[in-house]
Amino acid sequence: MPTVDSVQLVVDVVAERTNGRNAAFFNGIQQEWSQRVQQYIDHGGSPPLVTNWTAIQPRTNTFLNLYLSPAENSAQGQMLETMRQHELTICPACGELGRPNTLDHYLPKNLYPHFCITPVNLFPMCDACQLAKGTKVGDAQSPRFFIHPYFDTFVGEQVLCLEINAPFDAPAFTLGIVNGLDPSHARLIRSHMRELAIERRYASFFRNQHRRLLRLVGAMRAASQDVPQMLMTIRQAAVEPSLNAWDYVFYSAVCDNPDMIDYLTNAQLPQYL
Ligand SMILES: [Zn+2]
Repeated sequence: MPTVDSVQLVVDVVAERTNGRNAAFFNGIQQEWSQRVQQYIDHGGSPPLVTNWTAIQPRTNTFLNLYLSPAENSAQGQMLETMRQHELTICPACGELGRPNTLDHYLPKNLYPHFCITPVNLFPMCDACQLAKGTKVGDAQSPRFFIHPYFDTFVGEQVLCLEINAPFDAPAFTLGIVNGLDPSHARLIRSHMRELAIERRYASFFRNQHRRLLRLVGAMRAASQDVPQMLMTIRQAAVEPSLNAWDYVFYSAVCDNPDMIDYLTNAQLPQYL
């Protein structure tokens, strides 16, 4: 969760506008704006429970300017600066390792301009996810496509699982979701994966990791190391930063697959990798 309180930020931003051309506008809407931010928190940002605010549509740019060109020491400018200085090493939306470069608006800023500087509506995201997400929110069938990293805390557990199917020198990979999830959570993960094209993006990573694994296992055998034990250690090392990080999903699929462990321990490995 962001350290800055989202409702308090509305109060602070309006308080900074005591005169100037937008002062009357912001003072006039402060109460409803705060209520809408509180409604967002109460419903975890979930459309359609968090409604659009049609009355402020003509003033969309007035809101967007708060985000796009904040004064340096303004309340929202400092909040944005703090959020951009995060120390994440993984994209919270897809699990790819690497520092996520951008801040995403969970509810897009053009459709919900009054949430463009709401801290709980902002989180770091990788470029690939942001490009795929665009201004999508949901549709008639599934009103909410995406996992919200602050409110959908069930993704703290492993929710993605990989199946690796023989032949193990050139396996097929199937990415799915773990058994036993609440059906509404399972539906949310499916739409999240589909809309962010996560399986397609994982595919080349898994192929590369598989080649790397065969080389690693070759080296372990040459050094007379215990292959299953070593693989368990590699999986353990991938627990951080997340059980849904691509590396962890891959190594847990390997370790939980007795046929593959048997292949890696005993079979003739391909010569040219
Ligand atoms: Zn991502």
